[in-house]
Amino acid sequence: LSSVELTQDYLKRINEIDPQFNSFITVTDELALAQAQAADNAIANGETSPLTGIPVAHKDLFCTEGVLTTCASKILHNFVPPYESTVTARIKAAGAVALGKTNMDEFAMGSSNENSYFGAVKNPWNINTVPGGSSGGSAAAVAAGLCVAATGTDTGGSIRQPASFCGITGLKPTYGRVSRFGMIAYASSLDQAGPMARSAEDCAYLLQSFAGFDTNDSTSSETATEGYLASIDSPLAGLKIGLPKEYFGDGLDSDVAQVIMDAVKEFEKLGATVQEISLPNLNLSIPSYYVIAPSEASSNLSRFDGVRYGHRCEDPKDLLDMYMRTRSEGFGKEVQKRIMVGTYALSEGYYDAYYVKAQRIRRLIKEDFVKAYQEVDVIMGPVAPTTAFGLGEKTTDPVAMYLEDIYTLSVNLAGIPAMSVPAGFSNGMPVGLQIMGNYFDEAKLLNVAHKFQ
Ligand code: GLN
Repeated sequence: LSSVELTQDYLKRINEIDPQFNSFITVTDELALAQAQAADNAIANGETSPLTGIPVAHKDLFCTEGVLTTCASKILHNFVPPYESTVTARIKAAGAVALGKTNMDEFAMGSSNENSYFGAVKNPWNINTVPGGSSGGSAAAVAAGLCVAATGTDTGGSIRQPASFCGITGLKPTYGRVSRFGMIAYASSLDQAGPMARSAEDCAYLLQSFAGFDTNDSTSSETATEGYLASIDSPLAGLKIGLPKEYFGDGLDSDVAQVIMDAVKEFEKLGATVQEISLPNLNLSIPSYYVIAPSEASSNLSRFDGVRYGHRCEDPKDLLDMYMRTRSEGFGKEVQKRIMVGTYALSEGYYDAYYVKAQRIRRLIKEDFVKAYQEVDVIMGPVAPTTAFGLGEKTTDPVAMYLEDIYTLSVNLAGIPAMSVPAGFSNGMPVGLQIMGNYFDEAKLLNVAHKFQ
């Protein structure tokens, strides 16, 4: 099978079955076939990498040169970036074929992929349920076999939770492990890109291609990347697993808890030891995150004003009118709400009470993890309290929606890496096991996940 034939098959499949799931915003047929042809040429010349000719898809938050990049927002409905993000550029340089751009929650704000200007994404396991969010399009596309792997971003769970809901594997790397250059920013101190695929091994190949320092992102780490494939099959004998008691309390669905506990038993069979630990500030992660993330978003999103790119309102009467109408028309409800919350939290007189306090809590959450990793190698727990919920079920209840993020947010606040790995099913829907690691321990996470698969 040539790379062109493989790409044609995938494009045909997207064309035939994606209308049910709505996982793509843009499909780049011609570009994909040209890249596939280049891959076939590379193969003929013996110049291959593990990703040569592999069909992938990118969350529509990565700027792709010459290809529409919307962030699932009306405000960017016509935005064609003049440059390429580091992540997508590196994947391309490794020879992969990009099939298109995947659907998401607008500006990555959401946990169900229902906040997209281009419509909700449906979970391939049951199209009456959500795929999770915000990287719901990437997760659904991988789960439905519409691409081999995809990129996602995770600010508070957006790789792990959709991976869990769609029964695939996803990794959020350590903050700084991957360059954010060319990613449309949501909350810059939390955002991190990572791979979503069917297995830990596939995630390792993808991460290997794009992790590492980038002169274009001053927050990218100069710590050398490890060989993510080299240790992927190492034995787990002696691995110390911590189970935070707070992750198994009220609010966790009992079937989900059972799947997680069964998975932990498998690790014991593989030679790991398990101990209870405590991450006492778990409950503070939601209030802290939902102050910090909207604050950063309110600042990041101020650039969308109708002046330089994107949507602009009709016939503005003056500059202020243009800003106001452009932004009211261009941003969806959830985005507007967060801009207002963030602007309020950062405003004079409230800054200390909200933003500074949230940052203090963030420090406590980080310290909980630092302490835990003095005793254990990895921490395990659920990704989300439930399996995929019904479309529309939580859209009118923001608190219920935000509670979905309880087990994922603290990882971003601390900046540690974490994965979601398929662990089983509850009522026919996939359940993901969350594996959290110490800073820059991606190789260990991939190893632990791989041995379980
Ligand atoms: N659900 C969280 C939010 O709405 C996380 C989203 C994300 O990780 N991008 O902010």
